[in-house]
Amino acid sequence: MPRALITGITGQDGLYLSELLLAKGYEVHGVIRGQNNPKRELVQQVVPDVVLHNGDLTDLSSLLRAMAVADPDEVYNLGAVSFVAYSWENARVTTEVTGNGVLNALEAVRLHSGRDLGRIRFYQASSSEMFGKVQEVPQRETTLLWPRSPYGVAKVYGHYMTINYRESYGMHASSGILFNHESPRRGPEFVTRKVSMGVAAISLGLQESLTMGNLDAQRDWGFAGDYVEGMWRMLQQPEGGDYVLSTGETHSIRELLDVAFARVGIDDWSGLVEQDPRFMRPAEVDLLVGDASKAREVLGWEPKVGFRELVEMMVDSDVARLRDGLAR
Ligand code: GDP
Repeated sequence: MPRALITGITGQDGLYLSELLLAKGYEVHGVIRGQNNPKRELVQQVVPDVVLHNGDLTDLSSLLRAMAVADPDEVYNLGAVSFVAYSWENARVTTEVTGNGVLNALEAVRLHSGRDLGRIRFYQASSSEMFGKVQEVPQRETTLLWPRSPYGVAKVYGHYMTINYRESYGMHASSGILFNHESPRRGPEFVTRKVSMGVAAISLGLQESLTMGNLDAQRDWGFAGDYVEGMWRMLQQPEGGDYVLSTGETHSIRELLDVAFARVGIDDWSGLVEQDPRFMRPAEVDLLVGDASKAREVLGWEPKVGFRELVEMMVDSDVARLRDGLAR
């Protein structure tokens, strides 16, 4: 039975990846942070077979302890302070976790591997936010990185550190440059989930309006369930590498609102959405749109769920969840 260790187990991707690996017959271990972590119960409910280890990306010895017990064949580093807007206010902690945390994870793998440095396969969750002020459209693995937030800068550090461990030690280390990927499990601070939750609440008469930031921003949004399959495929290759995962399509926040409101029968949402500078960012990334040709050709990967289907899935899930709550 192959064994995997996942950091960021409580997040959207951690849960989808755990489900995927368990279905493939893996023994799955997860590193969970903090005393009384409020998400522990969620993980135990959704994926009860995952073995949890207390640990923190900023604490190398805790990672080494988890490695010693799990003795994994594959390590997926999904843990991060992952919200771009928050990273401006908490640049230092973002740097420690999202940046230096990658070095700790790589060190834990290197030290646990002993002499056989290719024994454990490593996945780093890199991000399209590394492209920031984009130098090329669409963006691919070779596009010059120009991050535009403390989060993006920290991810660039982790990306190059992963490449360096591959080149310096011959480790099987891969970096997945994932464009935005969403699902009903997405955190409510991200724009897609904020919209799906708000639209669901408005449709049920529980909320009057939605307060948003920049409606002209555009993103390349895919479904998280499709993207974790790409992560796994990267680690099944004979050698580590860097891969963009994206849909190649871009949509604006306005289009997101169009599709979400239409799903609950509202065609004109102009009176229901306000804009507030509180949700604007000090700097925006430009036109983020990915070219996933390499993943398609080498990994045979492609996204299955399209933009409309994704948004409708999220709105439906939030409507059902709120209805459930009202019925109780
Ligand atoms: P990101 O790509 O990781 O920053 O993902 P987000 O979902 O947080 O943001 C995507 C885009 O939506 C950004 O360009 C934001 O400026 C824009 N946006 C507009 N209104 C909002 C809002 O109310 N909340 C969030 N999170 N983003 C918003």
